[in-house]
Amino acid sequence: MPPKPRRQPQRTCVACRQVAGKRGLVRVVRTPAGEVSIDATGRLSGRGAYLCARRSCWDLALKRKALDRALKVTLDAATVERLAAFGRDLPDEADEGADTDAAMTNQDA
Ligand SMILES: [Zn+2]
Repeated sequence: MPPKPRRQPQRTCVACRQVAGKRGLVRVVRTPAGEVSIDATGRLSGRGAYLCARRSCWDLALKRKALDRALKVTLDAATVERLAAFGRDLPDEADEGADTDAAMTNQDA
């Protein structure tokens, strides 16, 4: 079977490889200036990588250098510390089940 066209982009967490909609993931971006920062708005330009809003994924990504690979950059100590600090503020488990998409289109014209 041919793959379906991807209208709604799905993002993959670089740590656990779980695929989710953009909403459940946090974007980390490498800006054109080479700086790596957390992109809360999802609108910064640059190469992006996604992580679950879950502490364990941030731990894992930093330990395994998954972000380094995804962003093709070597994170310096200050950046690692900044990302680790962000991860520590996240809950241990993402709020699963909040993922229901109730958008339905009724066409009864
Ligand atoms: Zn994850």
